[in-house]
Amino acid sequence: REEEGGILGIGEYSLHTGLRLSSGPEGKIEKDLQDESQCKMLTMLPMRNWKECEAVPSSLSSLVAAIVPGHLRKLNTVFEISGLHIVGLSSVRSESDEWILPSCATCRRAYPCQAHPNAAEESRLALRAVFVDSDCQCSMILYHDTITSCVNVGKVLEFKDTPQLRKELLEGFRSALWRAKVTFRENDYHQVLELECRHLERFLSFDAANPDVSAAQLDLPRCFLGGGCPVAPLREVKRDTDLGVLSVHNIDASSVRALVMFNNVTLPDDETVQKEMQATSAMRIKRSVDCLLSGTSEPFQSKIRAAGPASAVTWLLRGPPQEVHHVVLMQTETVNEYAILSHVLVKPEAVDSVMSYYRYICSQQEDTEELSFESTLTPAKRIRTLRESMPTPSKTSGAWQDQ
Ligand SMILES: [Zn+2]
Repeated sequence: REEEGGILGIGEYSLHTGLRLSSGPEGKIEKDLQDESQCKMLTMLPMRNWKECEAVPSSLSSLVAAIVPGHLRKLNTVFEISGLHIVGLSSVRSESDEWILPSCATCRRAYPCQAHPNAAEESRLALRAVFVDSDCQCSMILYHDTITSCVNVGKVLEFKDTPQLRKELLEGFRSALWRAKVTFRENDYHQVLELECRHLERFLSFDAANPDVSAAQLDLPRCFLGGGCPVAPLREVKRDTDLGVLSVHNIDASSVRALVMFNNVTLPDDETVQKEMQATSAMRIKRSVDCLLSGTSEPFQSKIRAAGPASAVTWLLRGPPQEVHHVVLMQTETVNEYAILSHVLVKPEAVDSVMSYYRYICSQQEDTEELSFESTLTPAKRIRTLRESMPTPSKTSGAWQDQ
């Protein structure tokens, strides 16, 4: 498996070679199977149904913590991680910034393909997505079929990598929390295990009513690895200005996720809108908000701000009171005032379910004891330790494979 060229299609390589039916009794089968739909069914049998297969509910951080550089080990168990937030998308290529790659139309690996020299070229999306939970971040590659099943880019796709397509993809992945089915993959080149995303689906939408997700609210073991983005009741956030770090529930992070609602507090005009000195068209907008996770007795107010061209900050300037936004925030030079890294509108029909799920995450951040591994433990032993500290149904799941 090539490291770069071959990277495309690993996750979606499907068994198209099928069966060769030419002589003897098979000849009759071949005749029966001339109906194309039947042929397809047969050749697709060997593929695993990642969407439906059983999986062990886990946290992202505990799986990432099981990875030890230099230790390769075949681990077959399928894990399921719910409530993942995607903070960024980038090209899978290190030497270029392409989001759409030329692929072999027959096997979907990188084009031109040695196995199918006569096959046509097909444009397919492939992206590296950065997933975060409260305790860590981890990037996984998403392939064309996964991407297009999660985000509706039909109208803008047209096989061209355009700014419009990138915007739709970023906004699409930002509009929800995700549930991923993952497995460990041995990366021989880097001599390390890595997580491979086998299936991805919407878990909790910010832009639509949500199903009941309480079954996924388990007391799963977590491992503090850093680089995560904890959910923050802003009332409880502490800051270390020297390190540029925010801290909530004893988790240090450079950014936090918050659920805020525009309130009726009017800031002085010169504080609300400021022209950025460097660029004449850019504005800095500041707004007062209520934190929806800081308790209900009396609202906890904070200020949030963003800078950019007018079109990028209008939502902050013009959004009506009571409008709710999911925001990723960084600290500023001022106490209880935050810079907005990203935002997404939470529609009224989604507010209750998102609020209740984020309260669950906060309780996990406060209450769950962090699991830590002896540095000498191998990946397989870490996974065994992890299983021991899991609650039912994770611990007793039928998805565990001998390893
Ligand atoms: Zn091919």
